[in-house]
Amino acid sequence: MYFSKKQQDFEEVIIENTVVFSCISDTCNGWMRKEFATDALLCPFCGNDMVEEVRELPRIK
Ligand SMILES: [Zn+2]
Repeated sequence: MYFSKKQQDFEEVIIENTVVFSCISDTCNGWMRKEFATDALLCPFCGNDMVEEVRELPRIK
């Protein structure tokens, strides 16, 4: 008898353009989604300013 491998159910990941704030420091990878950003727009890791940019990120469910 032949058993076919049950295909794994992959969670569907939807990539969409997302506005984020990104740390201006070259040596820091800090960033946050705009929707989660607070008014105090300083990098939570190094304290530098952050700039708005668009990244392709998986949608949050
Ligand atoms: Zn930073």
